[in-house]
Amino acid sequence: GHEVHLASRPHGWPTLENFHLVKVPVPDPGPGQLLVRNVLMSVDPYMRGRMNDAKSYTPPYALGEALDGGAIGEVVASETDAFRPGDLVQHGKGWREYAVLDERGTHRIDPTVAPVSAYLGPLGGIGLTAYAGLLDVAALQPGDAVFVSAAAGAVGSLAGQIAKLKGASRVVGSAGSDEKVRRLLELGFDAAFNYRDQPVRRSLAEAAPEGIDVYFDNVGGDHLEAALSALRLHGRVAICGMIAQYNATEPVPGPRNLALTISKRLTLRGFLLHDHLGLREQFVGEMSGWLRDGRIRYHETVVEGLENAPSAFLGLLRGENLGKMLVRL
Ligand code: NDP
Repeated sequence: GHEVHLASRPHGWPTLENFHLVKVPVPDPGPGQLLVRNVLMSVDPYMRGRMNDAKSYTPPYALGEALDGGAIGEVVASETDAFRPGDLVQHGKGWREYAVLDERGTHRIDPTVAPVSAYLGPLGGIGLTAYAGLLDVAALQPGDAVFVSAAAGAVGSLAGQIAKLKGASRVVGSAGSDEKVRRLLELGFDAAFNYRDQPVRRSLAEAAPEGIDVYFDNVGGDHLEAALSALRLHGRVAICGMIAQYNATEPVPGPRNLALTISKRLTLRGFLLHDHLGLREQFVGEMSGWLRDGRIRYHETVVEGLENAPSAFLGLLRGENLGKMLVRL
């Protein structure tokens, strides 16, 4: 089998040279373990942080070793009663063709409930991030006006649709191309703009002339600054990600209008998905229903072949994805 190793650490934007495709023997599962052949893997923005040698909420990838991340595999051999060959499982050892897994951290998925890929998207951590960010972190209330950035991406496109389903009065999304803006309107966003057209602050003021109550932040930077200007009294910001700065080589300046948090009594709250797993059951129940009824739609951008996983990841950082970026092995 093959796996993708971290060849070197990027300074600024990563390149293909930072990755290395390596041929390795297919490993043997030990007692209590299983061997899977991966069929699908996820590339995610947080992986950029793990390419740095910096302490964070997940350990850095090691040089000369395989990267890892969310994946779905088919069980090839099992040394545990819990799984049988042919089972489809979700696990954390992506970026490789074959993986040996412990029972712990491996979850069987049911391909009759939803397409397999949905477990790496709307039905998985991506969906839960959007759901928890809106409901737990931003305490969304019916009637709120909501702004979502990176809205044509995996988390953002779900966040916008969930906000509508939960009674938001107006949902505005931003994205990096006119085509993505068109797709957002198709998904039911009330307004959407291309953030490359003019300053975000101006576009947001036009799209939400009466202001916003909630900002779901995937981007940081100019988007966060614009949102602070647009937020109304007691507005809330769920800080999910700040992708605009993941490749920065120097500390980036904070929003220049942060003092608005005082006069408007704003709440800005960062969060990690892992702290909201208590919502999972409720989330899966609600999301399964929405997907079944067609009330939530989702896009995927699928790249073929493990050897193309590095370019899929680089493409994700550049915005080449509509919806979830996935690699099919
Ligand atoms: P996306 O599918 O949204 O892909 C990333 C998108 O970011 C790209 O498609 C691109 O779209 C956009 N983007 C890239 N650079 C910029 C920029 N400089 N300014 C504005 N937009 C940019 O990825 P995910 O849905 O997986 O993740 C979205 C965010 O959520 C990320 O910030 C991620 O780190 C965060 N996240 C946080 C979690 C948590 O627990 N807190 C869990 C999961 C994700 P475009 O063409 O529009 O520029």
